[in-house]
Amino acid sequence: MAVQTVAGNATTAPVDLGPAAALSCRECGERFELGPLFACASCFGPLEVAYDLPTGSPEELRKRIEAGPDNIWRYAPLLPVPADVADKPNLNPGFTKLVKADNLARELGVTGGLYVKDDSGNPTHSFKDRVVAIAVEAARAFGFTTLSCSSTGNLAGAVGAAAARAGLRSCVFIPHDLEQGKVVMAAVYGGELVGIEGNYDDVNRFCSELIGDPLGEGWGFVNVNLRPYYGEGSKTLAYEICEQLGWRLPDQIVIPIASGSQLTKIDKGLQELIKLGLVEDRPYKIFGAQAEGCSPVSAAFKGGHDVVRPQKPNTIAKSLAIGNPADGPYVLDIARRTGGAVEDVTDEQVVDAIKLLARTEGIFGETAGGVTLGVAKKLIEAGVIDPTLTTVVVNTGDGLKTLDAVSATSQATATIKPSLDAFRAAGLGTA
Ligand SMILES: *Cc1c(COP(=O)(O)O)cnc(C)c1O
Repeated sequence: MAVQTVAGNATTAPVDLGPAAALSCRECGERFELGPLFACASCFGPLEVAYDLPTGSPEELRKRIEAGPDNIWRYAPLLPVPADVADKPNLNPGFTKLVKADNLARELGVTGGLYVKDDSGNPTHSFKDRVVAIAVEAARAFGFTTLSCSSTGNLAGAVGAAAARAGLRSCVFIPHDLEQGKVVMAAVYGGELVGIEGNYDDVNRFCSELIGDPLGEGWGFVNVNLRPYYGEGSKTLAYEICEQLGWRLPDQIVIPIASGSQLTKIDKGLQELIKLGLVEDRPYKIFGAQAEGCSPVSAAFKGGHDVVRPQKPNTIAKSLAIGNPADGPYVLDIARRTGGAVEDVTDEQVVDAIKLLARTEGIFGETAGGVTLGVAKKLIEAGVIDPTLTTVVVNTGDGLKTLDAVSATSQATATIKPSLDAFRAAGLGTA
């Protein structure tokens, strides 16, 4: 197969990204040398990392993983990162809690085991630290000095923090009207943060133009020209969920959709575990979750279409507000292939679900978490998710970054003078 040389590669040294062997086109299968490429030169299809995966017995590999650090680097043999990755300055995300949510299960009538994979516990409080950590290794390997991204909020913070730690410059782009928590979180790490007057899809278009301009030379855009590497970080969610279940596939897993990258790569991760013999090969179903105000993939799924028609987002779930999701068609394939579904919920249901998770399990998720649990609840009630099977709901971010969603209805029960009489008179302390 023809191997093309990489244009715009900032370094000529051989690239060491561990088991990553090449990039391959998801559509036509053509292979390319590892480099900052994201679209196939022949058919414009998206590129993915292809591997020389470990050989040897599953037991050996399982032992090697279990002996690794308590973060995503325990899976380094399955990721596009150099073998000594754990020794480099990075934020070491991952190995977040898989919470057995028995209170929530009781409330929803789930008897087969309900789990919340709580990625709010990552260094910048969202799942984005996983994808950025992998992109940083690619940026280092290709000699980039500036880290950048188009972001719906969480990614900007994750890039700012990772760049600070790695000693890289950062310049990140967000829609101008994001939540205060996301803006501050992205700005505090000291890089440049640029608000763009427009929605995410405008921000993304702007970044594509910047890549082609001399101004953007030497820049690694984690979710554009480093996207094939970035995406691989989401596989670690699949690895962790299975390992934490005792090296077992869940029966059903509910995942939020913005661009759809995370959902498609969780599926890729599950498929790899099966191929490597690390888990028993049995059926699993993948469910995608969107907010009604930005539900292009859900609309296509329910309409029986293969094509995702772009929408103009209008929802409180801003981290998921991508109206033209790059991986939308692949999400549809996966939901259909596994016998899952894609569903959406209203903003009101998002708020209810945030409070439900907080009230039952002590986990304060962001609006994306509300979308995911809201959809899980809706699909359980509709009989689409089987309550007798093991179900995992992914909470991808921290509620502290989206306080506005619940602040109107989450305030002090009362404000009183500091006296017992006042406390008693207000009828408090009996709840
Ligand atoms: C980015 C993001 C997602 C999913 O993003 P994809 O583009 O679909 O990979 C989910 N939840 C949160 C909180 C996010 O920030």
